Amino acid sequence: MRLRKVRWRHARVPLKTRIRHASQEREASDNLIVSVTLDDGTTGHGEGVPRPYVTNETIEGTFGVLESAPWERLLGDPPRDFAEAVARIASFELEPPGPDPRGMRANSARCALEIAWLDAHARAFGRPFHEAIDHLPHRAETAHPAPVAVRYSGAVTAADPRRERISAWKMRLYGFHQVKVKVGVEGQDDPQRLQRFRRILGGKCDVRIDANEAWSPDDLVERVRPLLAARPSVLEQPVPHDRVEALAALRPRLGIPVMLDESLCGESDGRRAIELGLADIFNVRLSKCGGVARSLALMEMAFAAGLGVQLGCHPGETGILSAAGRHVASRVRGIRYLEGSYDRHVLQCNVIREDITFRYGGRAAPLPGPGLGGVGRSGCPGCADHPPSGGVL
Ligand SMILES: [Mg+2]
Repeated sequence: MRLRKVRWRHARVPLKTRIRHASQEREASDNLIVSVTLDDGTTGHGEGVPRPYVTNETIEGTFGVLESAPWERLLGDPPRDFAEAVARIASFELEPPGPDPRGMRANSARCALEIAWLDAHARAFGRPFHEAIDHLPHRAETAHPAPVAVRYSGAVTAADPRRERISAWKMRLYGFHQVKVKVGVEGQDDPQRLQRFRRILGGKCDVRIDANEAWSPDDLVERVRPLLAARPSVLEQPVPHDRVEALAALRPRLGIPVMLDESLCGESDGRRAIELGLADIFNVRLSKCGGVARSLALMEMAFAAGLGVQLGCHPGETGILSAAGRHVASRVRGIRYLEGSYDRHVLQCNVIREDITFRYGGRAAPLPGPGLGGVGRSGCPGCADHPPSGGVL
């Protein structure tokens, strides 16, 4: 099957509640949806979530990156099987305009295109999306031979004390075994909040914290110390990316493992983190890290260095990224924390028809193929019916 056309559009997806953390606040998510159609009419869909404050990308920027892509490299002889289709897209590069020393400024565009390409070819060859992992380089022990059920974390974002309490109680009643709490928001008493969450969530719940770059390395040890009484398990991105190297000296003094998120967007970030000893855990997100192939490479890098892995998500991802994340999570062994598939709880409307939100306790079953599964478009007026903004071929 030969590539016939590629289309992309901006889906502005309204959220059910305003999401707030230390560096951002939003009530809608601006997502990039890419559709790839093969000459037998098979169409696959992909999604990326460009965030200027993470990978320095915008929706308009992703359009420009796609318009100038070297499409002729995808147009050669059509792949003879799914393995060839995976290899073709895994080696496909998108070039952002201007300097890109961290190799991240085309990541969400690359993610959307890669998922759409893989979805289309997996459907055309009658294979499930997760089988792409078998055709990408990784150590044999990293992948489950068949997809397994997974368990997602809950998340408490910053809000007023009453709403936060309700949110924590919901997490408890919903049976989550892991919960992430956003900290570092101006004007909030984090030690007190964490103690309150610990009381509500109980002693057994794994509670981790995410500061979204809020704190300075200068007083980080003093900031973190009063939080430890509530026994958080991991501290995510405590300092701004441009001061992340300070963690080499500070990390051993914090008394809590450190996860990198905003400072982990590509291969060079990962290598530096390992070389300098900046992290205990990598937060790998498909869109932020440039798609499935590159995310798997970062996970491999972490595993090989003895680090832990979180497969994270961007709040506001639609069912397309939820489905792709589920396929990956259900095959990769050793993911310590899993985020995503929040669809029904976060989105006012979705671009897919099916509801693949996790169930009680954050539990979710593997998705059947072919491709991402029955990810059909909904008729949602808020996001799905935006006309394509651009396309090629
Ligand atoms: Mg984070």
